[in-house]
Amino acid sequence: MAKTCYDCGKCPAYCCSYPEIEVSKADIARLARHFGVSEAQAEERYTKLQREENVRILRHREDEHFTSVCMFLDRTARRCTVYEARPHTCRSYPYGARCGYYEFLKFEREHQADEGFVATT
Ligand code: SF4
Ligand code: SF4
Repeated sequence: MAKTCYDCGKCPAYCCSYPEIEVSKADIARLARHFGVSEAQAEERYTKLQREENVRILRHREDEHFTSVCMFLDRTARRCTVYEARPHTCRSYPYGARCGYYEFLKFEREHQADEGFVATT
């Protein structure tokens, strides 16, 4: 496997701010097992319907850095609270050795000489 050029541990979890993170039936079933609830309850509690595309997406809530973030993001630690049960899309992202946002973030932090700077797009 190629060495990754990004460090999620130093990132404010920009990818978790994507407004439409699609979840499949299998993703909902995994979340249901994780929380010990029925699949219907998991679907209702953790997802909502994106009507135009007729797909289920993760629910969001407000965030201090981005417009909103996934409801499962720990907004202080900037970590996924359901990491072992996270949806397939979250497992695959960023689909390679590089993360465009992380490169942008790294550039901005170097430019501003501020390791804690949070870049918004
Ligand atoms: S935006 Fe990139 S570096 Fe940041 S948490 Fe997501 S995958 Fe990791
Ligand atoms: S499930 Fe976890 S990894 Fe996926 S968007 Fe939500 S907080 Fe991020």
